[in-house]
Amino acid sequence: MLSRLGQLGHIVRLRCNYCRTGPRFYRPEDLIVLVGDREVDRLRRRLTCEVCGRKDYVEIDSPLLTGQERQSVIVRRLVRVSTIRRPIWREELL
Ligand SMILES: [Zn+2]
Repeated sequence: MLSRLGQLGHIVRLRCNYCRTGPRFYRPEDLIVLVGDREVDRLRRRLTCEVCGRKDYVEIDSPLLTGQERQSVIVRRLVRVSTIRRPIWREELL
């Protein structure tokens, strides 16, 4: 579970094998805000590559980095989640 990974000091790593983007690193607690407290394996095919928009090539894992690695990794932090209001219409007789 993401919450357990965060407690243990793991980080979540994403990369896209289609457009070769990444790896990008995320804190588990930021992903919990977006998708809930889930197992990392269940995030596969749920997360979309921001560059090519595909889900089926996104690789995700949760390595435990060494202290030296942690000093050089740039983590993407969640700033805020915005909600987009999209109207849904239907046709009906007057
Ligand atoms: Zn991609």
